This record gives sequence, C-alpha cells and structure tokens, in this order.
Amino acid sequence: MTKWVYGFGGGSAEGRSEMRELLGGKGANLAEMSNLGLPVPPGFTITTEVCTAFYDNDRNYPADLNDEVETALKAVENLVGRKFGNVADPLLVSVRSGARASMPGMMDTVLNLGLNDDTVEGLAAVSGDRRFAYDSYRRFIQMYGDVVLGVEHYNFEEILEIHKEDKGYVLDTEMSADDWQEIVEGFKAKVAEELGRPFPQDPREQLWGAIGAVFGSWMNARANTYRRLHNIPASWGTAVNVQAMVFGNMGNECATGVCFSRNPSTGENRFYGEYLINAQGEDVVAGIRTPAPLTKIEREESGSDLLSMEEAMPAVFADLVAVRDKLESHYRDMQDMEFTVESNRLYMLQTRSGKRTAKAALRIAVEMCDDGVISRDDALMRVDPAQLDQMLHPTLDPDAEKQVIGMGLPASPGAASGQIVFSAEVAEDWAHNKGRKVVLVRIETSPEDIAGMHAAEGILTARGGMTSHAAVVARGMGKPCVCGAGAIKIDYRGGTMNAGGVMLKEGDVITIDGGTGEVMLGEVATLKPDLSGDFSQLMEWADGVRRLKVRTNAETPEDAETARGFGAEGIGLCRTEHMFFDPARIISMREMILAETEAGRRVALAKLLPYQRQDFIDLFRIMKGLPVTIRLLDPPLHEFLPHGDNEIAEVAKAADVSESIVRRRLLDLAESNPMLGHRGCRLGISYPEIYEMQARAIFEAAIEVSKAGGDQVIPEIMIPLVVGKKELEILKAAIVKVASEVETEQSAKLTYLVGTMIELPRAALRAGDIAEEAEFFSFGTNDLTQTTFGLSRDDASHFLDTYIAKDIFAGDPFVSLDQEGVGELIALAAERGRKTRPDIKLGICGEHGGDPSSIAFCESQGLDYVSCSPYRVPIARLAAAQAALKK
Ligand code: ADP
Ligand code: MG
Ligand code: MG
Repeated sequence: MTKWVYGFGGGSAEGRSEMRELLGGKGANLAEMSNLGLPVPPGFTITTEVCTAFYDNDRNYPADLNDEVETALKAVENLVGRKFGNVADPLLVSVRSGARASMPGMMDTVLNLGLNDDTVEGLAAVSGDRRFAYDSYRRFIQMYGDVVLGVEHYNFEEILEIHKEDKGYVLDTEMSADDWQEIVEGFKAKVAEELGRPFPQDPREQLWGAIGAVFGSWMNARANTYRRLHNIPASWGTAVNVQAMVFGNMGNECATGVCFSRNPSTGENRFYGEYLINAQGEDVVAGIRTPAPLTKIEREESGSDLLSMEEAMPAVFADLVAVRDKLESHYRDMQDMEFTVESNRLYMLQTRSGKRTAKAALRIAVEMCDDGVISRDDALMRVDPAQLDQMLHPTLDPDAEKQVIGMGLPASPGAASGQIVFSAEVAEDWAHNKGRKVVLVRIETSPEDIAGMHAAEGILTARGGMTSHAAVVARGMGKPCVCGAGAIKIDYRGGTMNAGGVMLKEGDVITIDGGTGEVMLGEVATLKPDLSGDFSQLMEWADGVRRLKVRTNAETPEDAETARGFGAEGIGLCRTEHMFFDPARIISMREMILAETEAGRRVALAKLLPYQRQDFIDLFRIMKGLPVTIRLLDPPLHEFLPHGDNEIAEVAKAADVSESIVRRRLLDLAESNPMLGHRGCRLGISYPEIYEMQARAIFEAAIEVSKAGGDQVIPEIMIPLVVGKKELEILKAAIVKVASEVETEQSAKLTYLVGTMIELPRAALRAGDIAEEAEFFSFGTNDLTQTTFGLSRDDASHFLDTYIAKDIFAGDPFVSLDQEGVGELIALAAERGRKTRPDIKLGICGEHGGDPSSIAFCESQGLDYVSCSPYRVPIARLAAAQAALKK
C-alpha cells in the first residue's frame, strides 16, 4: 500500500532531506530539521504522488488519503496538546505548497487555518489577547478568500482602508480588537456576496479546501508557464505541507524573520537577515513594514534606527545562531532560513540552499573548500558557469541614482555609458578621432555596422530579439547590448530618439544595462569587474580537472588580448572576413569584387595582402605560440558591397568604374538564398587567388613572427563549408603550393595544418573521406544547426516561441546544441574522421562552444577543444571542468 502522508515534529520525522522528490523541497527539509532535533512546529506532508494520482484520476484523491490525514492530524494534536476545531483551545495550522524545485506560481501559503466564529473566541481566551485573535482571523479570511476561494485581495484591502479612514487611523497598529472584529464581519459579508455562499466555518472543510487549492494550482497558467520556462515536467507534482501554527504576532516577545547563513550578495561568512517584531509570516517580504536588521553589526553599518534582533532578543538570537551553525554544517552549503519567535521561543519554518550572486557563489565555494567543509570538486560543482557572466563586465553601481527611460531585452551583459550616435560611421569617427565614448543606437544592426559596434561602448536597438545580429555580435564582442527596445522611437533623419517621452538627440548621454535591459538617462556610475581572488582561485581548480581545451573565437587584437586574459588556450576560429570591413581595406576589397578578370582581382588582392599579413602578425604575437585556427573567406561577396546610392557612387569613384558597372555587379552577385549560395570554399574554388593571398599572408606572418624571436607559430588553416573531399583536395593543394613558395622565398621552414569546418550534413556524412585530406575538423555548429534543421537563425524567431511552447523544441537550438539531431551528426563525423585519421584534432566553434550543456556534450564525444567568444572563455573553463567531473 502506498504511503501518502509523512509526519514530522517532536524531534523526529518519517521523511528526510533525500526524499525531496516525494516530499517536495520544503517538506523534505522540514523533516530533516525535525530529525536534527531543531524546533520545528509539528505537521505532515502530503506527497507529490498524491498530486500525480489526483490528476491521473480525474481530480479524485486516493481512497485511503482521508484516513492517513486524520491519523497524521491526530499526531500533531497530541504533540501540540490542542485539537483541530476545538472551540475552547483550537489547533490552528498553515497549509503550504512545496514542489521539488522551488516554484513561483504555486498557491500561496494559508495561515491560521481552523479559525471560525467560535474558535476565534477560544483563541482569544487562551491567549488572553482578543485583538491578536481577531487580527489572525481576518488575516485568515483574507488569505483563504484570495488563494482558495478566488475573492481577490483588493476586495479586502478596500474594506480595511475605508474602515481606517472612517476612524481616522493611519497604521494597522491603531486597530483595536473591536475594529478587527468589525473587519471580520465585513470580510465575511464580502465573501458571501461574491460567492453566494458563506465563508466556510467547518475547519475540516477549510483544510480540504486549502489542500485542493494547492493541488489545483499545480496546473494553473502561471505554474505551467514557469515549468515550461524551466523545463520542469508536469509529472513531478507538488506536495502539500500542513503544519501547526506558531504565532509571531502575539505581542512584543514575538517576531518573524528570514535569514541567510552567509551574505547572499557578497558571500561574506557573516550571519545576515531581517526580522519584524510582532508580525506574522509574509509581513517581512510583503513590505508593509520595514524590517529590522538581524545583527547588531548590520544595524550599525546600515544606520537603521530599528533595534536588531541581537539587541532586542539576545537569548533567542543566540538560539538562532546555533541553528544557523548546525544547519550550515549539516547541509554544507549556505542556507536561506525562515523562522518565527513565539513568546521568546524560536521555531524554524523553512531551510533551503540560498540563492546567491555569482560573486557570493565564488566566495562561498572557495571559502568552504579552504575551511575543509567541502572538497575542491564540490566547490567546482557549486558555481553555475552561466552565472559567471555577471562577473566579467562592468556593472552598475547599485548605490548610484538612475532614471530609467526605456526597457529592452538584456541581450549582452554589462553596463555602458556614452553619447548617443545613430550610425556606425559616426560611432567610429567620434570614438577614434575625437576620443569620445559613444553608445550606438540603431533600429537594428547589420554586418556593415561591425566596426561602429566595436568602437561603441554599448549597443541599443529598437528591433530584434536575443538572437538578432546586434545581440549575437555584441555578446561575441563582450559589449553591453540592449535590443528590441520597441518603445524607443528612433528618427535617423532628425537625429533624435524618443524614449518614454524623453527626447534625446545625437550627443546626449545615456547608460544601458545589458544585464537587465534598462536604458537610463545620463551617465550612471559603474563598477569594474574584479577577477582576482576567488575567481582566479576557482578557475585554477577548474583548469586542474578539465580535459577539454578552451580556445576563443577572435579576429581583432583586442579580442585576442581579452581572451588571453580570460585564459584562452588558442584561437579556434579567426573569421578573416571581419578584417575586410575596416575602412582602409573595404575599398580594395570592393575593387577586388568589382574586377571582372583574374588579373584585376590579383591587383586588388595584392593591396590587401600587407593588411592581412599584419593582422596575422598581431594575432600570432598575442597568442605566443598557442594554436591559431584561421578560417579563409566565408561570406558571399555581396555582403561587402554597398547598397545606398551615395555609397555606390563613392565605390564607383574609388574603383574608377562607372556607377552602372557597380550596379550591374550588385545584380550579378545578388542571391535569393545567400546562406546556401556562393560562399565558403565555393569562393575559393571559383576564385583561387583569394585563398592564395590569404594563405600567403598567414605563412609570411608566421615566418616573420618566428624570425623576430617570437614563439614558433603553427597556423591551422581552415576551409569553410566543404561538402566532401574533392573541394578540400583542390584547395589544400593550392595552399601547400603557396607554402612551399613562401618557404623558398624566405628560406625558412613552415609547420602548419590544413583542416576544415564540418558544418553541412553532407560533410558530416562524408567525414571519413574528408579526413584523408583534413588534419583537423572544427564543427561549425551555427551553420550545422541551420542546415540540419533547414532553419535560418535570423528567421527562427518568428515561430521559435510557439515551437517551444508546444514542446516541439526543448529550447532554442542555436543557444543549446540539439544533441539528438545535430549531436548525432557530430558523433558520426567524429567517429568516421577518427577511423581514417586516428589523431585528427576535433573542436567546435560557434555560439555553442560557450554553452555549458553543449560543452558537456563535447566532453562526452571526446572532442579536443571548444572555442567560444572571449567573454565566454571562463564559463567554458568551468563548464568543461564540471563536465569532466560528472563523467
Ligand atoms: P513560501 O514558499 O512562499 O516561502 P511558506 O510556506 O514558506 O511560503 O510560508 C510563508 C511564510 O508563512 C513563512 O515564512 C512563515 O513565516 C509563515 N508560516 C508558514 N507556516 C507557518 C506556521 N506553521 N506557523 C507560523 N508561520 C508560518
Ligand atoms: Mg518560505
Ligand atoms: Mg559557417
């Protein structure tokens, strides 16, 4: 027979903390605290299995549930020495929901259940405090009315407000027992009016009403949405906790509070919390009254004029400190606890692992490890890699004043201030020539804006989602970005933007917070990231256990430097096309594209060669002998051509051709589906001279750096978008030829690798053949995801939400690798590649290289490295360590 109900209290319990799946987080920890002998008001937990059975059975309870509840209730009555529903001295209970994972959206707690017109008099007599009894009763009607009967809060608030106004009261504390009794009558009348039936007076009806409401709330819209967003299956169910009430609102020897065993925002090992004297439950969080600090030192530091608990009730405070020590050493983690004091006696009502900032998470993990409380491996598992992002960027000074004038998506974290500019050109001009700090404001961005984005402190767009161009590029650069701020109206022509009624023009200063999506007026002070101390300690531990190497995607010296600073072990993807957008080079690039003959192209390429060579010299110097993978030109050529009339004229002039030739060439190059068009190695096959120039630049740079006394450079030349072996055969032969030419010219010896991206399904399938030519594979998972799904990243946003809502996709496949589909192609390509060439180097580049769950997949496939944008390098280092530990 299934056991549906688990009791706790009186120094023992039927459950334990390991039973959170069955008892929910709250129930399991209440049981654990009882077992530890802590003062927990007795109660019982109705299991999550009842919830599941309830829904499997057309919302009917198991037949024997009622008996089990009665038995458990009897046990509580015996421990407390009061009977539920007894008129002279009633037992009151709270009914609290509790799922496995804490879940907002579930039913709120109901306190003081069991009160009615008769028991309230009993409570008044026993406590000797009528005011307290009627205050408790009105709270009960209000909570029960709201969460169980669906009579909304405001109905009750209104009655209370009118009463206070009539009497000339300001504070609830001015209300007398008679006032509260009148309020109770008003509340009951309101419920009767709204529901057409009286407020339930039978305590058992009240109890089952509340239990039913908890189970019912498991399937409400709020809870469903939350589960969907957090991947919590509906089959988990929630538990219900029924617990004897203790009263924090029975006078000045009573209190209620919330505390953390360590400071959850700094991680400092110092008891931290808030409490309220003479208050019940949620008063602390509800903000009705300002709570007081728990400790004396906190009171002194905060300058609060309220007495701390340490000073007001020293003996109970000492008990609480003892509980804190006991719970923290028992759970070996920072605890978030809820307590109530009734007549100078402490009761514990909840404990759980506390939520914390990244900074606190690092400090707590490192200090607990140093103190021998947890192992190094535990410490590494304690920090959420994704959370590290918070640490790497400047953040808003929490003490600074700010005026928020708009809101968008938090697309790339960090805070930035600067003068508004509305075009990439102005951004570059102001930043580079005038030394100003600018924020680039665009309706949306495109590849031509890259240089301007680089020059800006941050980027704000009015249109586009989390995977829009602006968002992806900004994250890659580690620039703060707020995107899709739809309420901000941008007028390019007038050079103005209107944000929430505030008119701003070019040159005005704003601040954006890419971690929250806020747009603020003027300059708001920021704090610099601090990566020493706990951060570097934990990273060092991570490096000690991880197997996967972590490289970065970088093409500019700034990005390469940043990534080195974050611990990158090489470059996994250097996209050469970004190097051609620089104003000094784009002209020659366009000249090359406009040339109609090979000879013409070679003339333009010769002008680009020195620039390319210098790019690589810079990168090789920064990377000091670490591997650098350079991808040859990848995007379709029309991406480099201008589309506006003025620009076309400019280009025609620079290239010394007529405007009509430029326009015709634009038409020639136009593609209806550029993503699947003339790009990648197809360019190298059509115009071998382009890749030859790039190979030459790489080899000459490698030799120059080595000759100048730098570390020996072993470049890895990567060919994009191959579909099979043949393309690689042709292009590799050309590269090898250039290499031997350069060797002869410079009388030097080169060491290098030639490999390929695996980013098309056909390439993955033909990996066995391809590996005959390729010395390494890099899985380009952005394109591989696009082509496996037949889904363009830029267009996915139109239906992605619906697909996720209907459970067709588990999440955005461009954020977290689709392990079932795309992952299978990777596994298969890795296997076939290794069969041909056992020592083939395997890596992954693209957004997924910095995503913890995708990194775990790479570990499981035994890849050699992941490569990600500079600001994700620390995240990848920790995620790789966790993946190794889990294995
Ligand atoms: P949540 O999940 O929102 O934290 P809880 O079930 O913890 O909700 O209840 C909220 C608050 O109600 C608790 O922090 C506590 O102060 C109060 N509370 C709950 N049960 C009791 C009880 N048996 N006696 C006194 N106060 C209680
Ligand atoms: Mg709680
Ligand atoms: Mg690609």
